[in-house]
Amino acid sequence: MKADIEIARDCRMKPIAEVARVLDIPEDDLELYGKYKAKLSDTLWNKLAHAPLGKLVLVTAINPTPAGEGKTTVTVGLGQALSRLGKRATVALREPSLGPCFGIKGGASGGGYAQVVPMEELNLHFTGDFHAITSANNLLAALLDNHIHQGNALGIDSKQIVIKRCLDMNDRVLRNIVVGLGGKADGVVREDRFVISVASEIMAILCLAGDLADLKRMLGNMIVAWRYDGSPVTTADLGATGALAVLLKDALKPNLVQTLENSPAIVHGGPFANIAHGCNSVRATRLALKLADVVVTEAGFGADLGAEKFFDIKCRKSGLKPDAVVLVATVRALKYNGGAAKSELAVENLAALERGIVNLGKHIENLQKFGVPVVVTLNAFVTDTPAEQALISDYCRARGCEVVLTEVWEKGGEGGMALARSVLNTLENRPSDFRVLYPDAMPLEDKIATIAREIYGADGVTFGPAAQKALKKISDVGMASFPVCIAKTQYSLSDDPKKLGRPEGFTVHIRDAYVAAGAGFVVALAGDIMTMPGLPKTPAALGIDIDDNGLISGLF
Ligand code: ADP
Ligand code: MG
Repeated sequence: MKADIEIARDCRMKPIAEVARVLDIPEDDLELYGKYKAKLSDTLWNKLAHAPLGKLVLVTAINPTPAGEGKTTVTVGLGQALSRLGKRATVALREPSLGPCFGIKGGASGGGYAQVVPMEELNLHFTGDFHAITSANNLLAALLDNHIHQGNALGIDSKQIVIKRCLDMNDRVLRNIVVGLGGKADGVVREDRFVISVASEIMAILCLAGDLADLKRMLGNMIVAWRYDGSPVTTADLGATGALAVLLKDALKPNLVQTLENSPAIVHGGPFANIAHGCNSVRATRLALKLADVVVTEAGFGADLGAEKFFDIKCRKSGLKPDAVVLVATVRALKYNGGAAKSELAVENLAALERGIVNLGKHIENLQKFGVPVVVTLNAFVTDTPAEQALISDYCRARGCEVVLTEVWEKGGEGGMALARSVLNTLENRPSDFRVLYPDAMPLEDKIATIAREIYGADGVTFGPAAQKALKKISDVGMASFPVCIAKTQYSLSDDPKKLGRPEGFTVHIRDAYVAAGAGFVVALAGDIMTMPGLPKTPAALGIDIDDNGLISGLF
């Protein structure tokens, strides 16, 4: 089989205006970025203000191996298959971050014959949205430090600065730094740190804002620091809201590209699901639902992170109601969850599969708590054996859960027909009774404990001193009604990446918390999770090259 990048390069892309026609988007409403990418204009958004919404399908997964388990691949393949069946369908995905692209995991445009193209541009700078987010964030940080340098009229406590500079890169040395070194003209010395752009609050705001007015309101509400008296200082207090909104005005517009089979793909926003809320933008999802009858979207990592946040943050805040969930499982990841070594995942191992399959069981139970019908799909790898695949199918059927094999990686949309039919059947015959996991009125500590107990399967939660103090402060300033966004490892249902399968008898440790007052949620940091990832010993970057003719290799 060819590499993803070779398959993508062989694709005969259609001009983006032709792709747009499938969704009846007039050419006038496309803001072209070359031949194959376009932003969808604000005029289109306004024209569709009262259009009815199509059906919303979420793709999520079991706890993954470090390579990912194929959610994006299945999402894209399902979109391709629905289009083959003559449905007015689109996928709504996140934009890839350069961190994983050059780190371990690789890009995020799907794989095999289920990809979004142009693959290289999508995985690299795309339409510049992440650049805009990074710039807006860093302008805010610069304005704040300058404010302190210029006399600190707002009385900001430089030991309590919340806004961190960001960069869309995995760079461990930026986790703990000192800024303001030098002379008197070089600013005030303080300890600081960077976060990766996809974990920044501005990324979250861009993904949760309904429109420009909403964006400005949310930017203005961001708490950038605290005063000595314990009161918050916001972006609006700094007078920075307008400038930030200007930097973000184009980034707020969703991007249109296409799949390998020329069906539409709307790609917009990209917070990580472990250290952020993990979903593409509300604006893109809503626009997609107005343009198409069926929209397939993805939330990051396992269902304990991405799906929970999709339901409890994105859907709660936007009023979107999911109609079905596709839960992606792989033989490989279930064997990994059953203790098989990363290097042994291509070898049949029914014993490991049997041990690890409880991870799938827990995710099925969890998704049922949200009242949305679930279809399990087994993302087939060529290394799977029939006995392994049968074990998973039997396990699901024994639990009354629908399970379908997907071969979109190998066969494109054709390999996703069974899944597409099953999803359409579900949309028609199994009504969704969507509900969030906890009410707004629940105290923050209890919200965290509810997620830990109900979704992670923990016995309870412990709060470190910093977390206790932070949660009290957040409640004291009247923000206890926000939902919580738990930052946690993606490898385990627990906060310990080594506890695979379906861990039991553990408690989740919350070490710190902060409020994203603009985005409107509280972030609770569990275990050792860090908001600036590092690179592995052999980063993917070392295998990436471009030849003298401009041909890129090694992106995946
Ligand atoms: P996720 O969205 O769950 O993180 P991706 O869809 O990005 O996962 O897939 C991760 C990687 O695995 C990609 O490089 C993709 O090409 C590869 N992959 C996905 N499905 C398959 C499959 N069925 N067979 C082989 N490789 C696959
Ligand atoms: Mg993905």
